[in-house]
Amino acid sequence: MTTQAVTKLFRISGAVQGVGFRPFVYRLAVEMNIPGWVRNDGEGVTILATAATEALEVFRQRLEQEAPPAAQISGLTVTDSPASPIPTGFSILSSDDSGAKTVRILPDLAICLDCLRELFDPNDRRYRYPFINCTHCGPRFSIVEKLPYDRPNTTMKHFELCPRCRAEYEDPTDRRFHAQPIACPECGPRLSWQEKSEVSETDALAAAAAALRAGRIVAVKGLGGFHLTVDARNEESVRELRRRKHREEKPFALMYPSMDSVRMDCETVEAEEQWLRSAASPIVLLRRKPAGHTVCPSVAPRNPYLGVMLPYTPLHHLLMRELDFPVVATSGNLSDEPICIANEEALERLGCLADGFLLHNRPIARPMDDSIVRLMAGQRMVLRRARGYAPYSLSLKGPSTRPLLAVGAHLKSTVAMAIGSEACVSQHIGDLSTQGALEAFERAAETLQQLYGMKAQAVACDLHPDYHSTLFAKKMKLPLIPVQHHHAHIAGCMAENGIEGPVLGVAWDGTGYGPDRTVWGGEFLVIDGAQYRRAAHFRTFRLPGGDQASVEARRSAMSILYELFGAAAFDLERPCLKDFSASERANLLTLLQKGFRSPWTSSAGRLFDAAASLLDINHASRFEGQAAMELEFAIGDLSTEESYPFEIRPIEEGPRVIDWAPLFQALLADTEKHVPTGLISARFHNTLLEIIVVMARQIGAHQVVLSGGCFQNKYLTEKTMRRLSEEGFQPFQHQHIPPNDGGIALGQLAVARNGE
Ligand SMILES: [Zn+2]
Ligand SMILES: [Zn+2]
Ligand SMILES: [Zn+2]
Repeated sequence: MTTQAVTKLFRISGAVQGVGFRPFVYRLAVEMNIPGWVRNDGEGVTILATAATEALEVFRQRLEQEAPPAAQISGLTVTDSPASPIPTGFSILSSDDSGAKTVRILPDLAICLDCLRELFDPNDRRYRYPFINCTHCGPRFSIVEKLPYDRPNTTMKHFELCPRCRAEYEDPTDRRFHAQPIACPECGPRLSWQEKSEVSETDALAAAAAALRAGRIVAVKGLGGFHLTVDARNEESVRELRRRKHREEKPFALMYPSMDSVRMDCETVEAEEQWLRSAASPIVLLRRKPAGHTVCPSVAPRNPYLGVMLPYTPLHHLLMRELDFPVVATSGNLSDEPICIANEEALERLGCLADGFLLHNRPIARPMDDSIVRLMAGQRMVLRRARGYAPYSLSLKGPSTRPLLAVGAHLKSTVAMAIGSEACVSQHIGDLSTQGALEAFERAAETLQQLYGMKAQAVACDLHPDYHSTLFAKKMKLPLIPVQHHHAHIAGCMAENGIEGPVLGVAWDGTGYGPDRTVWGGEFLVIDGAQYRRAAHFRTFRLPGGDQASVEARRSAMSILYELFGAAAFDLERPCLKDFSASERANLLTLLQKGFRSPWTSSAGRLFDAAASLLDINHASRFEGQAAMELEFAIGDLSTEESYPFEIRPIEEGPRVIDWAPLFQALLADTEKHVPTGLISARFHNTLLEIIVVMARQIGAHQVVLSGGCFQNKYLTEKTMRRLSEEGFQPFQHQHIPPNDGGIALGQLAVARNGE
């Protein structure tokens, strides 16, 4: 008895384009002897297949179970198809780019093991070819100009395929079947070396390696932009890079030649090594080994961690194998500007920074920094989300009623778009304080809409009226949904953890606009649905000099002392006062007394600053968060459960106030008793996390959500997570999006959708 053949349409959504999905479907269909076709479209992949019902069921299961490694299926629907003429055999049709575009775009993928083997195989025709790739690896988001993901829609459109590449591209049994960036030495992109105005195409790699060996600074064009590289062992060269880049102390990221070389300098656990080797290939913050001395002191001054990555493009592999020592690999930009992507732009903007340029002629569609991750409470926490992770989408609860755009905050800017039940968060753009960053920000907002072929119908922004992102949102002339900064922090963390309220959100950061016109930053918010209630905050103190106070920890310290002792604070010779001149002291006192340019704040970040300065650890940060980081590092391996007293004051019909006065009085008493700085810092941290535990008890919420830049602090976050669990609460931290303001855009989306 033969079963009647039926024809069905399979629609697969998710990250299924550019990962070898169609060849996989083709091979499967041919193997199972199922006629039909497969094609890419705006929603993903569509398959028409004709066979007995049972065979189609097996086919469906195998589609899900045997999909290529980089594919992420988010939906698979099967519908009956009208009995059109039954195809003979199975074929791959050209893409259909009409209709809605909800397909996920893939991030760039590190070189796969097969390509790596070919790269170093003298008998392979792509031996030592720096742009080797296949359907399992290579550039994606950094070369896509529009959907669907086909070569004419990428920056590879300028390179005509040679006959051999074309044959591979068209052979469904080949690993490079429809690999859009496919290339070879005959037909693909090439390297060149430029030094002053001399350009050479022969031995560009060797010239770059020689320059690096000689201690010079080389700009290397990579996947998502330029790196500035220099021999990480060479103190003089690294200092020279700092001088030219105007980057005094902020740690530099490193690229190591191999995992073995990483292990010589850093402690690693299995998970960290997996991330280093993953297709995303991020920078991983690793603890230094006390005896690891390969890199020179100026790479990461006074920092017990190193930001480490492994080579992820064939070009990096070739270069690092040549060098066999770690190099600094920092974003090719002047401080705070977006990373350079175009050759001419790099030659102009980086001309005064680099001694030579290792260039290539494959254009980069958009800037994409390296991502940064660290191990936090046993999980991976993304601190900067860019290459390798963006623009993977995140699933949201329930569908959006209309396409929404969220424009984020001001620092560590990202933008995000919600379509259906998915949120797509852009790559890290940077601080919106330069013209270059503003342009990159506007392009990113445009790109999200263009790639999805959809115009936003409403836009969510920060409550801060003067942020560039807010002004941009207003210019769009769409319904505007302003979201309070700390509400967005917590909503973002809830969204990525897939939880709903009620929760107690602990949002601790440097600054965020409060609806009461004070600067918020040490907030306990009870969140349920689209609403939040400010349940508690730190006692407020002034930020003398406004923004200057977020750079100079000593200003927060003096403000705390002024709250405790009044003008007498200026008679005490404390370390935080020592570098102020007499006139600066007088000026500071006036600011505190009169309140000029000195807004009130409840910022937790500034409390960390104050402690760092009172303990003579850091009085003025050379980069964002430095004082707080050094306060954390002062603890070292010290272990104590001791803490300082604090007071939580109930306020009638208003949020509770957490008074830090007893804390700082005890801290000052410890300094007078010459208690070791590390121990005081540990007690300070322990006090803050006990405040969270006590607040959780008082509020009685089971789920406690931690967000805001302060939770990049490993000591604080890990111990808070542990203590909350011990006390029977269910704590949540960030994983896929950063706890800093890079996570704000997702939170804004979540709040805006909830309010629809
Ligand atoms: Zn590959
Ligand atoms: Zn070729
Ligand atoms: Zn924030």
